[in-house]
Amino acid sequence: MPIYNAPTKDIQFVLHDLLKVSEQDIAGFEDLDRDFTGAVVEEAGKVASEVLHPLNVVGDKEGCEMENGVVRTPTGFKEAFQQMKDGGWTAMDCDPEYGGQGLPYVMHTAAQEPFVSANMAFNMYQGLTHGAYSTIYAHGSDAQKQKYLPKMVSCEWTGTMNLTEPHCGTDLGLMRTKAVSNGDGSYKISGQKIFISAGEHDMADNIIHLVLAKIQGGPEGIKGVSLFIVPKFMVNDDSSLGARNGVACGKIEEKMGIHGNATCVMNYDEATGYLIGEEHKGMRAMFTMMNEARLGVGLQGYAQAESAYQNAVAYANNRLQGRDVTGAKNPDGPADPLIVHPDIRRNLMDQKSFVEGARAFTFWGAYLIDRAHKNHDADADGLISLMTPVIKAFLTDKGFEYATAAQQVYGGHGYIEEWGMSQYVRDARIAMIYEGANGVQALDLVGRKLALDGGKHVMAFFEMIKTFIKENEGNEALKKDFLDPLKAASKDLQAAGMYFMQNATKPNNALSGSYDFMHMMGHVCLGLMWARMAKAAMEALDAGASDTEFLETKIATGRYYMARQLPATAMHLARINTGGDTVMALEAANF
Ligand SMILES: Cc1cc2nc3c(=O)[nH]c(=O)nc-3n(C[C@H](O)[C@H](O)[C@H](O)COP(=O)(O)OP(=O)(O)OC[C@H]3O[C@@H](n4cnc5c(N)ncnc54)[C@H](O)[C@@H]3O)c2cc1C
Repeated sequence: MPIYNAPTKDIQFVLHDLLKVSEQDIAGFEDLDRDFTGAVVEEAGKVASEVLHPLNVVGDKEGCEMENGVVRTPTGFKEAFQQMKDGGWTAMDCDPEYGGQGLPYVMHTAAQEPFVSANMAFNMYQGLTHGAYSTIYAHGSDAQKQKYLPKMVSCEWTGTMNLTEPHCGTDLGLMRTKAVSNGDGSYKISGQKIFISAGEHDMADNIIHLVLAKIQGGPEGIKGVSLFIVPKFMVNDDSSLGARNGVACGKIEEKMGIHGNATCVMNYDEATGYLIGEEHKGMRAMFTMMNEARLGVGLQGYAQAESAYQNAVAYANNRLQGRDVTGAKNPDGPADPLIVHPDIRRNLMDQKSFVEGARAFTFWGAYLIDRAHKNHDADADGLISLMTPVIKAFLTDKGFEYATAAQQVYGGHGYIEEWGMSQYVRDARIAMIYEGANGVQALDLVGRKLALDGGKHVMAFFEMIKTFIKENEGNEALKKDFLDPLKAASKDLQAAGMYFMQNATKPNNALSGSYDFMHMMGHVCLGLMWARMAKAAMEALDAGASDTEFLETKIATGRYYMARQLPATAMHLARINTGGDTVMALEAANF
């Protein structure tokens, strides 16, 4: 049985030593002192390890089942969902007007990590509801908000996002689901959506589907897409439930992982839907919640790697194989534990340095979202828009890579289901695909985000790194191990950006290098996070903090990232500089 313990100390370190949340001039942040966040994270960790984690394997083994149109979730899910609702975990950052607790998004993110690490498939029911809540909150009418949000905040009703159709996922302009006006403000929605997470299940009284569809007679392609609320059961004005709507689950998909989450084919047969926002502006409404949703998926990536890592460490300490080449560490036993071997250490350090850097990057992103929303800070909004495809794609690519690396520590036992490592690999895999496949995230970064507002935000990012390096150059302890590698990596990234600008006449040059650029930027972001964390840890040590072992470990882990991971930017730059010719050399028929 795999283990999971919430890394509460690391979470607190990011919130307080790195982000210094309680000192920020953002409404609600003044309440985030160490005691408060510590108590919340501790409790979230307890729920995660005691309630959700034991159900992770159950969900994987049992999966969801459909009988006569009813989808049953795995044993124990219903009760655990009730516990999440009773504990107020579904409502943390939601508006108090609708029953939420009004806490900052960064606090919600800090509590989410343990839940996602413990049981990703289970947490998606709540995660999708949160996404649907945010969309209605941002774009719905007052009447829609009053009608739907209180029950969604409490998760008595859950939510879904319906974009994908059999013939279109990335290219949503090809969408066929149609909406016909009933003349009374409502629409008849007809069509088929596929792969809809949490589309049907037995844990909520109602399901509020957010559905993209084309209003007949509207513009062609993506410009003709509108967004609708389609409840499973019609909702009366007093929020009581009415008749069943014309939406039904056609089947649930058999899939590689996240078995505990029902992935549904949803059939809409003249179902009654209500427009959210303006006609034909559905994509704009969807994009409002993208930063949040994609940050949530990035979190899934590193949260799965965290869980897998914890198990790999335990295994490496217990499994006896071979001897330490510098002298036996377990002379009375038949062999030394795996953890003595440098190659196992390399593997574990790769995982550890990624996960801790990724946590800092994600929480920083959540802090930027708070700053953008609560302070109406356009620079923070621009910066998080730039970072969103990187958070989503880099953290899920690497999350999967390191979940696999943790499996490797187990040797053949990692491949055997009994040990639970294959589930981490299988579950982590989907995060690279949904919410916009990672290749498309890289295109978004290079094709759209770099040039956003005339390139202002990417310039601000480079300036931020430059300023940090300049301000700390006199700090000998930081310079060689942290600032110099960060400077070199940042230079590589700028050179890649320059290459794209100078070769813009041939778009295949940029498009062939976009994936490398996204990874490069991910490395630079984690490098920046590590340099800042090292500084924070050094300052805490200088101030006489008692937990010297934790802080010194933090610095040593950061040193590893800077020395062994960050140089990857040079390889990515070398690839980008070769342009698109070798990538596009073959005719399609030659593959
Ligand atoms: C388990 C699961 C849960 C899901 N949950 C939901 C959900 O809740 N709601 C929902 O609406 N959808 C959901 N999806 C769908 C998911 O978001 C899509 O599968 C995903 O967006 C990719 O779309 P596609 O599968 O049609 O692939 P395609 O769009 O056909 O893309 C195939 C590949 O081609 C690449 N590609 C496409 N276009 C380009 C281009 N222009 N340039 C370069 N490369 C390109 C993509 O990166 C991808 O690798 C889910 C999928 C799964 C498997």
